[in-house]
Amino acid sequence: MSDLNRNAKAIILRLAPWLREAAQDLVLFGTILFCLVFLISFPSHELSRMSFNEKAPESIPSSVPSGRLFVIEGLPDSYELRLNNRRLTPLYENVNFLGAVGISQRNFVTLTGFYRTRNRAKANWFQRFLFVQEVSGFSKKIEVSPKLEIRKASNLRLPSSVWNKLENAEEKRKKFERKIMRDVLNNFTHLKEFNCWYPPLQSKTTSVFGKARILPNGRHYFHSGLDLRARNNTPIRSMGDGVVVLADKMIVSGGTIVIDHGGGLFSRYFHMNDIEVEEGTHILRGQQIGLSGSTGRVNGPHLHWEVIWKGLAVDPLEAINEWKKICG
Ligand SMILES: [Zn+2]
Repeated sequence: MSDLNRNAKAIILRLAPWLREAAQDLVLFGTILFCLVFLISFPSHELSRMSFNEKAPESIPSSVPSGRLFVIEGLPDSYELRLNNRRLTPLYENVNFLGAVGISQRNFVTLTGFYRTRNRAKANWFQRFLFVQEVSGFSKKIEVSPKLEIRKASNLRLPSSVWNKLENAEEKRKKFERKIMRDVLNNFTHLKEFNCWYPPLQSKTTSVFGKARILPNGRHYFHSGLDLRARNNTPIRSMGDGVVVLADKMIVSGGTIVIDHGGGLFSRYFHMNDIEVEEGTHILRGQQIGLSGSTGRVNGPHLHWEVIWKGLAVDPLEAINEWKKICG
């Protein structure tokens, strides 16, 4: 054997333990990588088989008017309901559900119900190993009728001083306030209180919910609340039990109070002269929260009162009536 060959053999022998370790590390690394890829690329929902062929329960309405809160009663074994991707608020052990149709120009909304049962008998060994879920349920189109009509819009008469003040207000400030309000209304808490609701003030309605209006700049919108006649500094009471989540002076809504009633439900009180509650305070139904006024975008003193479910404004008086099914 030549010297060269002997030297090569010696080098290989010296490198052998190191090569073996490297190979072991490579196998371990490869296994971990394979497991990670496997876990990431096979989430359980991918393996769930979804079908919405079941018949919708009789208690699901076939038609709901625009801007209406509604309760679906007595759904057996239901797990989850969604209305255009908004999860309905479960009441009483998933038997009754609360939802709403907002002020919309849509003809239909889609309600989907999921009944989740683990169906392992039908699964093959691989699916059984991965705990396949069979998700089945129903999907039903609910007609939005009657719809609100934007064509019949009437001009919102505003004193030019009010309009000019609003138009000249900093756009940055208005944008900031809209963001704050969005954040407040998107923070859903659990529904804890089932006491009945009362209007914040016993007074005449001066502008109904859903009335189509035109602003001086030509923009159309639907009145998202109810206006109640109120002289300046009339005591205003909370519609129900809840927590104050916003109490501040804002550009468009003036003195503003937002109360969270849980389950995605909020009430809003606008144009207040005086705010007598602080954010974070627990409020009881009928408790005085402030004094009405004419602050913000108004043509005179009144209370603008709103009820909102998961970002959708609903008719406050109808909401009180519908809530009676629950508060009884
Ligand atoms: Zn109003």
